[in-house]
Amino acid sequence: MRYLILGGGPAGLTMAHQLLRRGEDSFLVLEAEEEAGGLCRSKQVDGYPLDIGGGHFLDVKRPKVKEFLFSFLGEEEWEYFERDSRIEIEGYTIGHPFEANIWQFPITEQIAYIKSIAYAGCNTGEAMPDDFVSWITWKLGKLIAENYMLPYNRKMYGNNLNILGTEWLDKLPNVSLDETLRSCLTHHAYGTQPGHAQFLYPKHYGYGEVWLRMAEVLGEHILYSQPVKKINFKTKTVETENGDNYCADRIISTIP
Ligand SMILES: Cc1cc2nc3c(=O)[nH]c(=O)nc-3n(C[C@H](O)[C@H](O)[C@H](O)COP(=O)(O)OP(=O)(O)OC[C@H]3O[C@@H](n4cnc5c(N)ncnc54)[C@H](O)[C@@H]3O)c2cc1C
Repeated sequence: MRYLILGGGPAGLTMAHQLLRRGEDSFLVLEAEEEAGGLCRSKQVDGYPLDIGGGHFLDVKRPKVKEFLFSFLGEEEWEYFERDSRIEIEGYTIGHPFEANIWQFPITEQIAYIKSIAYAGCNTGEAMPDDFVSWITWKLGKLIAENYMLPYNRKMYGNNLNILGTEWLDKLPNVSLDETLRSCLTHHAYGTQPGHAQFLYPKHYGYGEVWLRMAEVLGEHILYSQPVKKINFKTKTVETENGDNYCADRIISTIP
């Protein structure tokens, strides 16, 4: 065959459909699990959808991506949500994002956080650090970093946060002293809210449904329970744990 796609998660499934839409028929997807979707899979538990890779929802900016996904799970099958997330901290509950909702703390805590933001490296002109932990402290101030952002990230990614690097962090909004003060005085969240303020989730299924439907259209072009064991890029062959061998002009791996 011409193309062998390894992994039937969102990337592999999308690649397969791009080929199909270009009229390419000579390809196969090899998926290790019994069903497609990868980290975006869902299970039904007690009649409710549970996303097995952590909570997932659809929030994409590019209309073409939405259009593509809606061609499998129609737009009318998705529910639109306005995000309402809360953070529980030190016995208080405040809105998300933390830095925009300091006004919801009692006055003493507000003052402490405002002072900490005033002394944050990014507000005092300190050079931007390279490692994650120092960067977070530099950007958000010591108190938000130590009470919230660092413990939160340790919970997500484990203890050695510095391996995360900092090159992707520019998406974090700035914490401005002026805006924090204004927000505390006027009792309103400040600034542009971060991403995912609105999102879509399937009405009747888990997030995994869209990927299941994509896989269904692929029919015999996708094989399940085929964990890839070895890839030989010279001979362009792939061996699976089951001892099967596959060969293609091009091998596209989406395996993490
Ligand atoms: C906590 C968390 C929350 C997220 N929230 C969202 C969200 O809300 N919305 C969103 O759109 N995205 C979200 N994402 C991102 C999303 O999960 C990934 O972008 C997406 O799953 C990546 O797709 P992929 O196909 O590259 O990889 P994967 O989803 O990892 O798929 C890889 C596929 O390869 C298969 N595979 C692995 N090893 C082998 C092997 N040896 N042989 C054959 N097959 C193999 C796997 O079984 C899997 O099906 C989130 C991710 C995480 C971790």
